[in-house]
Amino acid sequence: MKPVCVLGNGQLGRMLRQAGEPLGIAVYPVGLNAEPEAVPYRSSVITAEIERWPETALTRELAHHRDFVNRDIFPQLADRLPQKQLLDTLGLATAPWRLLSDASQWPQLFAELGDFIIVKRRTGGYDGRGQWRIRPGDEAELPPEIYGECIVEQGIPFSGEVSLIGARNAKGESVFYTLTHNLHQEGILRTSVALPNTDNRLQQQAETMLSTIMNHLNYIGVMAMECFIVGDNLLINELAPRVHNSGHWTQNGASISQFELHLRAILDLPIPQPEIFAPSVMINLIGTEINLAWLSLSLVCLHWYEKEVHPGRKVGHLNLTHADKSILKAELQRLASLLPAEYQSGLEWAQDKLN
Ligand code: ATP
Ligand code: MG
Repeated sequence: MKPVCVLGNGQLGRMLRQAGEPLGIAVYPVGLNAEPEAVPYRSSVITAEIERWPETALTRELAHHRDFVNRDIFPQLADRLPQKQLLDTLGLATAPWRLLSDASQWPQLFAELGDFIIVKRRTGGYDGRGQWRIRPGDEAELPPEIYGECIVEQGIPFSGEVSLIGARNAKGESVFYTLTHNLHQEGILRTSVALPNTDNRLQQQAETMLSTIMNHLNYIGVMAMECFIVGDNLLINELAPRVHNSGHWTQNGASISQFELHLRAILDLPIPQPEIFAPSVMINLIGTEINLAWLSLSLVCLHWYEKEVHPGRKVGHLNLTHADKSILKAELQRLASLLPAEYQSGLEWAQDKLN
């Protein structure tokens, strides 16, 4: 089996490495401190866990490698401007947007997009960083250097957020997980819930959208599409050309995890439709120290990233899966007493989704 080098060495690279292990696929996440001699990059297939990786001699080598899968797609999706242009070109619904080049645009932007506008950095933002929520008057507070570096979007009064994770192989075959329901707070994903039989119409709509994108780009591997639910329809929020936080539940709730599925797709191994066993809940651990008491709950699967704990930093996640929703809900109830106050609303939201 060919080795795989991953641009980036955060938790997604770590979980790709873990997923490769049972299949005998050696995965080498490459970050700032990677030793070129320790990485068999010449004979590897190259992938990425982030849209913008640290610049070193080795990452430059990987980024230009002829076996870097989707090499020419990354620049297009890593910048919100060409990403939004792509969605418009394909006629796929997305939050109405404009390029923000100059402060003089504001009166017109409020007139065209309404009184709630989200400013987003074109590149480098994540977990809600590099974003500003603007109502008339707030625009004066924006740092002047953002002009030219950002897009603005209409604030969407959505009823919920979902994401679709799919994979496509070199033959053009695609498979999808069921839609994941996501709760974000202050721009950061807190909790996800995935159900085996999700709303069929939304599922179809989402699969058609993501297929259109992956086929147009001739994309290979796992891609995530984040959406807002507005009425009976989906608006695409953003695309990620990689494994995604909202797909972490597949590690314990699906026959093939998103990490394994990505490795299979880029290595041209079979990608059958993953089986979804049961309802699943994923809780992101954000700025919270590890608590070994979580392990006393039999349904809790702890994934700890071994990173330094800082406020607002994703340091791990908990997956829970059970075919019986009432058992799953009872376990969430027990877990609630082992998590700090800021987790409680997410746990209640998840229990509600299981009703
Ligand atoms: P990620 O961590 O997924 O990369 P991000 O920082 O790139 O996130 P977005 O996904 O664009 O940012 O936004 C984060 C969250 O902010 C969204 O999931 C949603 O809850 C909210 N949000 C973003 N854009 C809009 C919008 N146009 N209208 C309303 N809410 C929005
Ligand atoms: Mg997002």
